[in-house]
Amino acid sequence: MISNRSKLPGTGTTIFSVMSKLAEEHKAINLSQGFPDYDCDPKLIDFVAQALKDGYNQYAPMAGMPALRELIADKVTSLYQTDYNPDTEVTITAGGTQAIFTALTATIQAGDEVIIFEPAYDSYAPTIKMLGGLVKSYEMSPPNYEIDWDMVKKLFSSSTKMIILNSPQNPTGHILAEKDIEALIKLVKGTDVLILSDEVYEHLVYDGKKHLSMASYPELKERSFIAASFGKLLHATGWKVGYCLAPAGLMQEFRKIHQFNVFSVNTPMQVAITNYLKDSSVYLGLPDFFQQKRDFFRNLLRETKFDLLPCNGSYFQCVTYDRISEESDTDLAMRLITETRVASIPVSAFYTRNTDHRVLRFCFAKKQETLEIAVQRLMKL
Ligand code: GLN
Repeated sequence: MISNRSKLPGTGTTIFSVMSKLAEEHKAINLSQGFPDYDCDPKLIDFVAQALKDGYNQYAPMAGMPALRELIADKVTSLYQTDYNPDTEVTITAGGTQAIFTALTATIQAGDEVIIFEPAYDSYAPTIKMLGGLVKSYEMSPPNYEIDWDMVKKLFSSSTKMIILNSPQNPTGHILAEKDIEALIKLVKGTDVLILSDEVYEHLVYDGKKHLSMASYPELKERSFIAASFGKLLHATGWKVGYCLAPAGLMQEFRKIHQFNVFSVNTPMQVAITNYLKDSSVYLGLPDFFQQKRDFFRNLLRETKFDLLPCNGSYFQCVTYDRISEESDTDLAMRLITETRVASIPVSAFYTRNTDHRVLRFCFAKKQETLEIAVQRLMKL
């Protein structure tokens, strides 16, 4: 037997893969992993077919197709009133998670401390640890998952290298408010602390609220990597195309890693996305589109014994279930898959420490009938 010391001894398979596989095995309705069960726009597919036929089948430039980078820079300027140089400050990635992985790999050295807000997307902590970094978790609690910035300050030390933010937040649907941004600006002022801002749900913000991007604030922008995703924007999570924004100096380091990791992202998809996104109504319509789904799902869930937590953004609805059972969220999620045949994600999976919060996350980026059948099943509880 070959012996091999694991780089991530405490890490198993990501909860998203585990739950989606179980959902399939038990023929459960899959509201666990976040992805739509409806198709993307046929126009977009036509653009892909056209790009393939037009011969866009060889390597794209390492940083991504120039036209797509320019389009992204223009989009960012119009949405967040700031400029990124498409040549030096925008890189196309194989999805948001690769952008996150690459930004961390480009910056975190052994002993560096990284502050994360839990419940947190499950790639952050293992990636930091794999790089020899130390995870400093700020634990947010239901129902509102508010951040007490005085407590965040206490996590700061001379080894703090980075803060990872995620708004709209996966899994909670929490979004940062102006007061959070003000506190963050104060916190990092006069330091070299970097920010990794996971903004993959930037277009999924509801009730007329605005997405507050790190790009909009010069004091934050200068130290930020921003990770974004076309999967959410195009309803095509399987394409695994996203991008990263960062000031030139940071982006230079990012690309040193990117070039030896994916080198470049598939060409025809980049060409198709560029052609498709010339029409900005594609993303400007997303808040309404998803808000309708959120409201539809929330109204259905009100007929069950689950209690709804707030959802201001993302495509996730979290619930508590004191009126249903005293089980841990992992146990209940398992029972829901095998007996009720609805798959969800236990939010405790997004904390590094054991937690007694009992919260489930459901993805509502689904057809109305899918949500209806799921809730009919959940009503039996
Ligand atoms: N972002 C998606 C979610 O939270 C899943 C991403 C993945 O499966 N890697 O469900």
